[in-house]
Amino acid sequence: MCVFCKIIAGEIPSSKMYEDENMIIIKDIDPKAEKHYLMIPKKHYKLIADMTDEDGMVFQKCIRKIPELSGLLGLNGGYRLVINQGDDAGQTVFHLHVHILAGQPLDFPDLRK
Ligand code: AMP
Ligand code: ZN
Repeated sequence: MCVFCKIIAGEIPSSKMYEDENMIIIKDIDPKAEKHYLMIPKKHYKLIADMTDEDGMVFQKCIRKIPELSGLLGLNGGYRLVINQGDDAGQTVFHLHVHILAGQPLDFPDLRK
């Protein structure tokens, strides 16, 4: 089982912020921003390239839940979603997940140019 499947199964502890039938949101163990969460679909698959149509339906529900949780997660100042895919992006856990970064001006990298 991968590390995120173990977290979902309760075999590894995590700082869980939210859970429903489709996904969990936990605090990242090594935060890269003032607020850094991971939204992890419960179904294990590695990449966007591996998504089925049904996975896509579940995924859009998960994404659309995030603004509903903005109070709980402290996202009211804005937030950034990041999905690393593969080696060049530095993906280290091959179970699809979305980074939620918030709580400060997100000026790294500067995407405004
Ligand atoms: P990525 O590099 O996109 O694959 O992101 C993996 C993320 O998972 C990194 O930001 C890690 O800090 C985080 N991470 C790894 N293990 C754990 C864990 N046990 N609990 C919470 N976050 C974790
Ligand atoms: Zn997994």
